[in-house]
Amino acid sequence: MVKELILEHTRDVADFPEPGVQFKDLTPLFAAPEAFRSVVSDIGSRYRGTVDVVVGIEARGFILAAPVAMAMDLPFVPVRKAGKLPGPTLRQEYSLEYGTATIEVHSDSLRAGQRVLLLDDVLATGGTAAAAASLIQRTGAKVAAIEMLMELGFLDGRAKLAEYDVNCLVLV
Ligand code: IMP
Repeated sequence: MVKELILEHTRDVADFPEPGVQFKDLTPLFAAPEAFRSVVSDIGSRYRGTVDVVVGIEARGFILAAPVAMAMDLPFVPVRKAGKLPGPTLRQEYSLEYGTATIEVHSDSLRAGQRVLLLDDVLATGGTAAAAASLIQRTGAKVAAIEMLMELGFLDGRAKLAEYDVNCLVLV
């Protein structure tokens, strides 16, 4: 049911952000209040009582994680690209196809022992989620689960996340 809603509200965009890439655009889901609410409430109900904090990865992860956190009455914590968070941060560098990227989290935003639900929209190569998960573990908090709306199976992002409990609502 939720799977169908996501598929119905996903647009394939050819050659974005570069030639040869077929981009999964989830903005139609975020623009459909009933479908979006169903997805948020599905995620919230599955993790209720098992996590203490919801972490979203910039940028589309924020769109999903903030309403999930609110529906669960839990704190929302952003993982952001380097240089965006104003307070003291922990940083994690990771490899991209060409070059590297760095993400950060406020060092005082997570505490040792907290159980974290890590959310993003799409699992591609898994590099971003693996870096975000490492960042979370370095605070002493525990990644209880990683949840994504969609998994691009052919990129095998799960291989980089083997030590975590990963759940993606739709596999393409
Ligand atoms: P990864 O690190 O290669 O797994 O890339 C994941 C990041 O890129 C996530 O933050 C996604 O939001 C974004 N991403 C990669 N491919 C897509 C796509 O087809 N649609 C939407 N986001 C994507």
